[in-house]
Amino acid sequence: MQQGQIVKSLSGFYYVLSEGTVYPCKGRGNFRKRKITPLVGDDVSFEIDENDEGYILEVHERENELVRPPIANVDQAVIVSSGVEPTFNPLLLDRFLVLVESKHIKPIIVITKSDLMDNETLDRVNTYKQTYERIGYSVILGSSHNENGMDELLPYLEGKTSVIAGQSGVGKSSMLNALEPAFQLEIGTISKSLGRGKHTTRHVELHKLNGGLIADTPGFSSLEFQELEQEELSECFPEIFEIGKSCKFRGCMHKKEPKCAVKQAAEERELPAFRYEHYLQFLEEIQNRKPRY
Ligand code: GDP
Ligand code: ZN
Repeated sequence: MQQGQIVKSLSGFYYVLSEGTVYPCKGRGNFRKRKITPLVGDDVSFEIDENDEGYILEVHERENELVRPPIANVDQAVIVSSGVEPTFNPLLLDRFLVLVESKHIKPIIVITKSDLMDNETLDRVNTYKQTYERIGYSVILGSSHNENGMDELLPYLEGKTSVIAGQSGVGKSSMLNALEPAFQLEIGTISKSLGRGKHTTRHVELHKLNGGLIADTPGFSSLEFQELEQEELSECFPEIFEIGKSCKFRGCMHKKEPKCAVKQAAEERELPAFRYEHYLQFLEEIQNRKPRY
């Protein structure tokens, strides 16, 4: 029996990567009785029988699972924002951060198109970069055209399973191509697949990149907080979560409660005003969400 990770699923075959080789496998193990469908990203035990055919025997417990695209065991998400075209949008970045944090996946922020930024834009973007770094996030400023910053991103990918995320047009496919020219992703194709119907199952494949694996289809494309409860929201803002430990009331939602440490920190500018505003905006969105049944 061998161990590996599914990197592709196509026409009834699961392609399992094990020690550098990819084995096409079919499902045969007792996971089928448990109604588990193997996913790209799954760690599996498999065997190659006497006819040289591969069979998956066991699907190991998942760390996490994304729905669109269907992929398991994601370690980190590279959230791509552009500094210009489209303009840097901290509200959208925070939305992606919350979605990624809510899945307990590590976010890495990349701000692209630095080659197009004038000094004013560069100052604005750098100020945000510092703010996010102070919160504890890794932020890489770069360009897929002159490849600045790409060497800074590569070490983060080592040994990890990563997905990319971000609005269409920010430069996700360009970035993947800059990281690995062999990808030859058509510029703009990813954004097209993002625009497809919400319920289509998209094809996803994990590609080897700098000792890690990266998905060729972006994640977190449905930007709604469908699965998030209001009590969980502050955990997705690490600095708010930390300050919130000093609130007077347990379960404080940091909205209108008296002696709320978060509200006070925002007033005293100890907490960036825009982060608190986004928190409140998302909270309202979750509170007003229509029940799903
Ligand atoms: P995606 O939709 O996020 O995959 O974005 P694409 O990679 O398709 O890029 C959208 C547009 O932005 C294309 O016209 C790219 O050539 C352009 N673009 C992407 N990255 C950069 C960059 O770093 N610098 C410049 N100048 N243009 C970029
Ligand atoms: Zn509070």
